[in-house]
Amino acid sequence: MECKNRADVVIIGAGIVGASTAYNLAKLGVKDVVILDRGTLCGGSTGSCGAGIRAQWGSEMNCRLAIAAIDIFEQLDDELGLPVGLNQGGYLLVAYSEEEFETLKTAMALQNKLGIKSKVVSLEEAREICPALDASDAVGFTFHARDGHADPFLTTFAYVEAAKRLGVSFYRKTECIGIKVEGDRVRGVSTTKGEIDADIVINCSGAYSHVVAKMAGVDIPNWGERHEIMITEPVAPGVCPPMLMSFSGNYYIQQRPHGSIICGMSPDGHEQSFDTSSSWRFAAEMSKKLVRLLPSVKGVRVVRLWAGLYDMTPDGSPIIGETDVKNFYHSTGYSGHGFMLGPVTGRILAQSITGAKPDIDFSTLDYRRFEQGELIVEHSIT
Ligand SMILES: Cc1cc2nc3c(=O)[nH]c(=O)nc-3n(C[C@H](O)[C@H](O)[C@H](O)COP(=O)(O)OP(=O)(O)OC[C@H]3O[C@@H](n4cnc5c(N)ncnc54)[C@H](O)[C@@H]3O)c2cc1C
Repeated sequence: MECKNRADVVIIGAGIVGASTAYNLAKLGVKDVVILDRGTLCGGSTGSCGAGIRAQWGSEMNCRLAIAAIDIFEQLDDELGLPVGLNQGGYLLVAYSEEEFETLKTAMALQNKLGIKSKVVSLEEAREICPALDASDAVGFTFHARDGHADPFLTTFAYVEAAKRLGVSFYRKTECIGIKVEGDRVRGVSTTKGEIDADIVINCSGAYSHVVAKMAGVDIPNWGERHEIMITEPVAPGVCPPMLMSFSGNYYIQQRPHGSIICGMSPDGHEQSFDTSSSWRFAAEMSKKLVRLLPSVKGVRVVRLWAGLYDMTPDGSPIIGETDVKNFYHSTGYSGHGFMLGPVTGRILAQSITGAKPDIDFSTLDYRRFEQGELIVEHSIT
């Protein structure tokens, strides 16, 4: 497709964040939005993710964003006119020490204060929520019933289709190779398909966003981190309806609606990397955890392994807002939870850009917080 050479807004990156931002800008009346990707829709982390959605966070900012995102997800099929595959089986968080349980309960108190109805559940209740669970070594559990997961492909596709209906142009196989800056403001982008002049440019390029930011002379301290994940053949429904997750146990496990179990864990050492290869070591370790937690699935076959990139920041919270280059914005650094936050951050960034009051004040997510030592530390990450 021939690219236009002028737009009001160019968005770099067609993952969930770029797609939601494009849709929300168009919905708020911005006429000429272009979203471009060097690959295609969901070709980055969004297409590799576990797609969990939870409001059980440890920082006030993430709690506020996540519960607003759940409100959006719950009516997203109607809003976008296509199904997004939302499934609300809850998140069951598992603590393996008194200290960890206390941390979960402190986070729960914050969540409850912000209107999130998470609660402590007993081992017996945990087994009712997750019938195949063997967690006799656990010390405690918290649960939030409105948590769950959606389909990352369906969700992003639905956003882009709705955006296109509102006039947004989507260019795939179009790599941003330069950002045009004149004086103190952005003027557009150079791409492998030509130049596009634009008043506003938004960097939604995920784990590569620090590379894209640098094209405008802006430094952001985020990095890619490889995370592996796998999926099994389908097993009987109802084995693990919630997302089962533990920070110290280092796992997340959930059953998809068609019966397959999808599960992942964090890598040793948390190295900075753009590597997305899979390893036998992960497959072996993850399989052991899976069978220990859900003994009835012993013998199930793993049908696919893959890896994707977390777009990490030093405090585990996203970077959203305008940069020192006027009209050049970031919406990046989602640190492993951008799928669930994309719907709300796309909305509030679009509100801010169009001069409306954002539903949630996100000014503290400015990238200058790292220099100023005003971090928004989020520990509740697997
Ligand atoms: C294994 C795994 C499990 C995860 N589980 C969850 C989960 O359960 N819940 C959750 O909320 N999140 C999860 N995440 C995190 C989530 O995937 C990301 O936070 C989210 O997808 C980020 O979306 P994005 O749109 O910012 O980035 P991406 O989806 O990576 O999109 C960025 C796009 O930018 C494009 N791009 C890059 N450079 C350029 C360029 N120069 N020019 C043009 N295009 C460019 C890329 O091709 C890519 O398509 C997980 C991630 C992984 C890897």
